[in-house]
Amino acid sequence: MQNEAVGALPITVRNVTKRYGRVFALDDVSLDVRSGEFLTLLGPSGSGKTTLLMVLAGFTRPDRGSLKFGETEMIRKPPHLRDVGMVFQNYALFPHMTVAGNVGYPLRLRNTPKAEAESRVERALETVQLGGYGARRIDQLSGGQKQRVALARSIVFEPRILLMDEPLSALDKKLRDRMQIELRHLHEKLGMTTVYVTHDQREALTMSDRIAVVNHGRIMQLATPQALYDRPANRFVADFIGDSAFLPVTRSGDQVLLHGAPLKIGGSIPASGSLLLMIRPERVRLAGEETGEDVNRFEATVSEVVYQGDSYLLYARLSDGSEIGLRGPIREGTVAGLPKPGAQATLALAPEDAILIEDGDG
Ligand code: ADP
Ligand code: MG
Repeated sequence: MQNEAVGALPITVRNVTKRYGRVFALDDVSLDVRSGEFLTLLGPSGSGKTTLLMVLAGFTRPDRGSLKFGETEMIRKPPHLRDVGMVFQNYALFPHMTVAGNVGYPLRLRNTPKAEAESRVERALETVQLGGYGARRIDQLSGGQKQRVALARSIVFEPRILLMDEPLSALDKKLRDRMQIELRHLHEKLGMTTVYVTHDQREALTMSDRIAVVNHGRIMQLATPQALYDRPANRFVADFIGDSAFLPVTRSGDQVLLHGAPLKIGGSIPASGSLLLMIRPERVRLAGEETGEDVNRFEATVSEVVYQGDSYLLYARLSDGSEIGLRGPIREGTVAGLPKPGAQATLALAPEDAILIEDGDG
């Protein structure tokens, strides 16, 4: 659902490195953000997400590398000349100013005439559904409203690039879920090139056109949400996004063996390296009458059954001791019909759900 606004700009990052002492906050990062795209940097705490955003915004100068917005080299440009809107995790609002005072701040920095500034502020507030809130004081607002004010301030001067650093992490879950959808709609409406930072994989999957998974200052994989989930490039990505079990498998000619038996594989086999079979809990099933012939079957012992309201989670051990999680929907009678801990069960995995990945973090 990309929507390229007039004036949206692609971002080109090339070989950017930033060290703090011995730590490579960014380690030779190259990245292309498409014009009008919503791209998310996803990674654990300390992986370099904020540093990369600060390089884009101009608050951090990298040791090496280049950065372009469109055709223009940006590395030497100070933040206020970059035409970038920025939203921070902690809002960074001025508590002693009104809502309108905060939202209008970037316009005052740019010497926008007063009448135009006022109409822009009101328009930005309406865009984030805070029309009429201009005279309120910041300390009279809820967390969600403060975040909207910060957002209005970041878009009021109609920047061509919008950067957001974990903007929803201070909100409770319900509000966060709603704001994710709203931010997405806002992006569709305004269409500016957006780089969004989060450590929350579900948030990244919900919002993004593409996701760059970051670890130790490097980009592990850049792909659409579905491609990342279905075809992770390595174990780090597979582990970070979704739940999965990993079973070591061996190569034998053009086949792959699990515990000596050939696996039926739908997709491709990585060309090199030691291999793991990745099993997502919602893709493996208890073998039953409806299970087709052409599936992989594993004999296992049930170790745990967990009721989770909308679904159940069943853990089962294979003969080598490795554990597989299996998630299934709960319908009338499902729970009573599940095998109990200690019982034998046959697990079924379709060839297209038998995903092979390279061991290691890429
Ligand atoms: P993230 O946003 O993914 O949590 P950061 O980009 O903030 O990660 O940090 C990446 C690494 O760089 C971390 O190891 C962090 O401690 C280090 N780092 C970031 N900023 C500084 C700084 N100003 N001084 C020293 N080390 C820093
Ligand atoms: Mg950070």
